[in-house]
Amino acid sequence: MIRVTIWNENVHETDQNEVGEECRKWYPEGIHTALKNNLAAPDLEIRTAYLAQPAQGLPDELLNSTDVLLWWGHCAHGEVEDALVSRIQDRVLGGMGLIVLHSGHKSKIFQRMLGTSCRLVWRDIAERERVWTVDPGHPIAQGIPSSFPIEHTEMYGEPFGIPDDGKIVFLSWYQGGNVFRSGVCFQRDRGKIFYFAPGHETFPIYHNTNVVRILANAIRWAAPIAPVRDDAQNCSHECDPIEPIA
Ligand code: ZN
Repeated sequence: MIRVTIWNENVHETDQNEVGEECRKWYPEGIHTALKNNLAAPDLEIRTAYLAQPAQGLPDELLNSTDVLLWWGHCAHGEVEDALVSRIQDRVLGGMGLIVLHSGHKSKIFQRMLGTSCRLVWRDIAERERVWTVDPGHPIAQGIPSSFPIEHTEMYGEPFGIPDDGKIVFLSWYQGGNVFRSGVCFQRDRGKIFYFAPGHETFPIYHNTNVVRILANAIRWAAPIAPVRDDAQNCSHECDPIEPIA
């Protein structure tokens, strides 16, 4: 079993405005619950967590039993405590998978892991997006067509301030003319990281069959292949010679 935790800031879901109404229309129990339901599979043990819970949703016992963490945040990035970001970073370096969704590009944990601005340009006018599979041999692209449309999306466009060691799996084109590296993989020490752009809170993108398949594939790709180390940042040690030195 892969132990998956879906973390959501869960703020738009409770907004008493037009955004909140639209969000609740597609995600009445929150984005985290919709993802949990849509990703359900016999090999996945899926838990959910959100910002307003004790320990901001991720107490040690939950984080330390997580193989793959999904992260959705937008307007409350600044409220996530730096100490929590450091605990997540440690666990990713030790081998936990991290999947950063949509506006999580500006989350503290994504910027911490990548070390760059993660800036982009955006536009929210419900235009069409076409997601292109540019690496059809990649495990995350299995079962995904060569391209597929998302009828209404928020545009995220280049330049995207990410490091150039990212492996691009998906590239998006938007009706307004922009393009974006919308599905990119990274590795940091033992941990695999996948960023996936589609997923704005007021559109039903997490009910799109191809999007759900991509995230399911990403969970299985990012799952650790060995037990996650809990000493990733403190495991440097003096090393005796292996071979005799004359
Ligand atoms: Zn958005």
